[in-house]
Amino acid sequence: MPDTSGRHFLQIPGPTNVPERILRAMAAPTIDHRGPGFARLAREVLDGLKAVFKTAGAVVVYPSSGTGAWEAALVNVLSPGDKVLMFETGHFALLWREMAASLGLDVDFAPGDWRSGVDPALVESRLEKDRGHAIKAVAVVHNETSTGVASRIGEIRRAIDRAGHPALLLVDTISSLASIDFRMDEWGVDVTVGCSQKGLMLPPGLGLNALSEKAIAAGVEARLPRSYWDWRPMLENNEKGYFPYTPATNLLFGLGEALRMLNEEGLERVFARHDRHAEATRQAVRAWGLGLLCVNPAEYSSALTAVLMPDGHDADAFRKVVLERFNMSLGTGLGRVKGRVFRIGHLGDFNDLSLAGTLCGIEMGLALAGVPHQAGGVDAALAYLTEEARGGADARRAGAAG
Ligand SMILES: *Cc1c(COP(=O)(O)O)cnc(C)c1O
Repeated sequence: MPDTSGRHFLQIPGPTNVPERILRAMAAPTIDHRGPGFARLAREVLDGLKAVFKTAGAVVVYPSSGTGAWEAALVNVLSPGDKVLMFETGHFALLWREMAASLGLDVDFAPGDWRSGVDPALVESRLEKDRGHAIKAVAVVHNETSTGVASRIGEIRRAIDRAGHPALLLVDTISSLASIDFRMDEWGVDVTVGCSQKGLMLPPGLGLNALSEKAIAAGVEARLPRSYWDWRPMLENNEKGYFPYTPATNLLFGLGEALRMLNEEGLERVFARHDRHAEATRQAVRAWGLGLLCVNPAEYSSALTAVLMPDGHDADAFRKVVLERFNMSLGTGLGRVKGRVFRIGHLGDFNDLSLAGTLCGIEMGLALAGVPHQAGGVDAALAYLTEEARGGADARRAGAAG
């Protein structure tokens, strides 16, 4: 029998652990979604989300998974046969490509090695060659959750500008939003796709789109069929604090609480916390003598780390030992890297001690599963976290003295 006392460690890169404050907020009785109380809630969360996307534009919220929000991003701005430039960063990029193709879009899919992000120079050269501006949109996954590689959206924006190309920029921030810095307006992103169950610390069930003025204008001409995902009735109803159909009311209660938590901590400190836990995790992985799937330090993901197994050892057999013995779920390898990597989610409601517990479970699991490694990964991570904590305390004292 697996050991199930204590709490389950849900260390997959989404869904993430839901904090008790959010669980309690969601446990309130469902209210009339056409009443005045609901309108106050809707305005609060729709406005609050803008700060998380760093946009002055509108955000729409669907009762859906992230996949629904992907579809919404495509059908609201594009027409049948439109050319879309996409990049094979990993499993999620592949799935979004398949969706675009099945909707009748003409996808130009730049191949990738599943270990690096989107190369801004490649974006520039592809767009420069497209003199007739046939490409209507560039679609990028910000944080590729299957590989632990984060593409540099700001640099991609500059590449599009250097090419002088008018394509829309669509970005999937499903596993980066509220974990890794993302600046919708500054980076000129036209549609940002998000969802509830990763950095926002909520259960699955909300899909998000943030929209630029240019995206809304493109929607007037767009001819892909759309009904449930149509932004227009959504925006019209949202204006007064309502939805065109029944919203996921209790998830919105949870979203209100999540936004309060992010505000209390401060978004920049949330990002710094994710950076710190990701760095501590990488130090542990190096000390174990294992490899990182991500090859470029400038593209390390702060939301998750994908760890390469030594040859001849199956990642899922190792994950099974960790689940059964330590009641911790680690992320499986997806698609092409199945069995070759496991993924450590260190995003959302997470602190130094949750990371310490996570890394302890991995180090003990490596030993139990007979995976060749060196001891000392946990020690390396704890030493780093201790130094960081000391630095933080010193900085606070210096601040108080000055
Ligand atoms: C999780 C995830 C998705 C899919 O979201 P669902 O809620 O499972 O539909 C898409 N893209 C990325 C980058 C993700 O991490």
